[in-house]
Amino acid sequence: MESKMTKEEARIRLIAKREELIRKYEFEEAEVLTVAIEALQAPPITQRSMYQAGYKQAQEDRLKGEWKVRRPKPFFLCECSVCGESEEWMSKFCPNCGADMRGEDK
Ligand SMILES: [Zn+2]
Repeated sequence: MESKMTKEEARIRLIAKREELIRKYEFEEAEVLTVAIEALQAPPITQRSMYQAGYKQAQEDRLKGEWKVRRPKPFFLCECSVCGESEEWMSKFCPNCGADMRGEDK
């Protein structure tokens, strides 16, 4: 997982590269990077998009989690090992952070 570059890491490296190009007066090349940097920028976060973004990000990062039983009774409660959010049932994906809870077998 360490070797996979995230969009944010790529964006930061492109920003550094663009500054290099501007210093060398290669404005046309710098403009290409400006477009790429904007494309990598995360869309503004709305409350509704947070779940979708979390779910998508978790899929991209292949986040694996597991449910930990916090309280078996009288009302079942389990906790996500990735985000720590409590849920009432063990779903395949954490509804809060989108971590994949399906285990190794797909
Ligand atoms: Zn979670």
